[in-house]
Amino acid sequence: MAGRTIVVVQAHQDDGDFYCGGSVAKWCRQGDRVIYVVVTDGSKGTMDPDQDPVALAAVRREEQQEAAGILGVSECLFLGYPDGDLVPDLALREKLVAIYRRYRPDLLVTHDPTWKSYLLHPDHRNTGEMALYAALAAGMPLFHREHREQGLAPHQIPEALLFHSPEPDHTEDISDYVSLKVRALMCHRSQFYLLGQAESALGVSLDRLQSMFGQPESLPVGVVKEKFKRVPLTAGGPAL
Ligand SMILES: [Zn+2]
Repeated sequence: MAGRTIVVVQAHQDDGDFYCGGSVAKWCRQGDRVIYVVVTDGSKGTMDPDQDPVALAAVRREEQQEAAGILGVSECLFLGYPDGDLVPDLALREKLVAIYRRYRPDLLVTHDPTWKSYLLHPDHRNTGEMALYAALAAGMPLFHREHREQGLAPHQIPEALLFHSPEPDHTEDISDYVSLKVRALMCHRSQFYLLGQAESALGVSLDRLQSMFGQPESLPVGVVKEKFKRVPLTAGGPAL
């Protein structure tokens, strides 16, 4: 089904590209409109003790916009919360509800907030949690009633796909979009110290990834899939 609006709510610049960049590239080329919402400023994403956090945040924002352009993302919304310090509060929920009511997505894509893997970055967990809570609130008119004066009507998102889930039950075949995903990941030059994570994200060896820096379109791959947990959000689904 093309022509959907898809909102990807992610904690950091690069999370969406890592966990669902191939799917995003596919959706965009199939005619969907994809909006990125980046909750934190990414200002702690370094192992360099002398790095200026403000400068790093600016660099990461540019990297994200470059990567989003490669994938075909229509718009990046940067909420600017301090990296690593995110708490799941009502102010964040209100911002997300307003975005859902403004863009009226057919699909929400975000972090799986469950704690079963014991591996999740707190920002990831808190982002996923509030993205789902906001999906509930966005559909109910008495949540954030002040939106009514702003012309933002309630909107019920029908379903969510959660990435980095310990219990995936939905896959997207990205075999034809791996090169675009790699090109997007390669935009995140400030994060290359994390490149080892790309091996598991892409099923491609680090040596091969590094050899592709200049020619990612030459990557030979078999069938590659991104995995998600599918969550219905309409009445009768888990959210209600
Ligand atoms: Zn992250």
